[in-house]
Amino acid sequence: MYKSNAKTVVITGCSSGFGRQVSEQLARRGDRVFATMRGTEGKNAKIAAEMRQLAVAEKINLQVLELDVTSSVSVDAAAAIIINECGAPDVVINNAGQMYIGFTESFSADELSRQLDVNVVGVHRVNRAFLPAMRQQGRGLFINISSVAGRLSAPFFGVYHASKWALEGYSLALRGELASSGVDVVLVEPGPFTTELFSSSPQPQDIDGRVASYPLMARQTLDNLAQTFEAMLKDPTLPTDPGLVVDRIITLIEMSAGNRPFRSVVGLDFGVTKQNADAVPFDAAVLEAFGMTEFATLKPSEFQ
Ligand code: NAP
Repeated sequence: MYKSNAKTVVITGCSSGFGRQVSEQLARRGDRVFATMRGTEGKNAKIAAEMRQLAVAEKINLQVLELDVTSSVSVDAAAAIIINECGAPDVVINNAGQMYIGFTESFSADELSRQLDVNVVGVHRVNRAFLPAMRQQGRGLFINISSVAGRLSAPFFGVYHASKWALEGYSLALRGELASSGVDVVLVEPGPFTTELFSSSPQPQDIDGRVASYPLMARQTLDNLAQTFEAMLKDPTLPTDPGLVVDRIITLIEMSAGNRPFRSVVGLDFGVTKQNADAVPFDAAVLEAFGMTEFATLKPSEFQ
């Protein structure tokens, strides 16, 4: 099934979670989807094969491509294939991510760098690969999957917070810089949802045994964190269905250029929706102070 106004959409991190769901859903509604993931011939070979079979069985335009966001070679190779085949994409969804959890002190500098490499530098690699073509096209949309963890902070998530807070600041600056080129940048900020993010969380190696000298109460709180989250995610009264994130992403794609909110919270929001609303006049005041008010308005070359 193809539709006349089909969009070309590139998504990172499609081997599980939001990435897999949104790529399949977009393809099912008729978009041309490049579902990228790392390890298509290795750790994710089975998932890649399943998605390719789905594309054939349902006659949908869902192409699985290798893309590891931590490798410029991998990102550039995927971007070259996509741009050669269809030109600049209409939408790029920076979804790939990991969540490191533990005592912040117990992560080595290398471990912190690896977290940032996936969640922040990875986004930059992808953006740099597609931006020249998208700017030249004069339109396009980047949807960066941040988190409520990019707006608030809690113990044991320091390394993850560092990455998502960085992504927030990075995305707002980029949004202003790209406005005059007609390319939009928005953030989706999910609360907690049931995906593989928690279960695949990289643990600190703690090679010099820092954790052992923390008070028992703090160590027990960390040990119980998985249970705390599990209980939250199993509560049927709370908005924890990952489909809500997929729906929000699709809504943002469908909105007309210039009308998309910069930040969209989905699910349990911990007060972030209000925080975001309160931030709007401050963000505008910063642009005004620097004589950059025109950077607040997207100038699309045509309807997106
Ligand atoms: P997920 O099921 O763990 O999916 C994360 C995806 O990112 C996986 O496909 C993973 O692939 C991929 N990935 C990790 N490192 C990668 C790399 N170097 N190159 C390419 N792909 C890589 O978790 P999710 O919840 O759907 O996460 C998607 C995004 O949502 C993340 O940015 C996350 O921070 C954000 N988020 C999630 C929640 C939540 O509660 N679930 C809340 C707020 C924000 P592999 O299978 O190969 O590791």
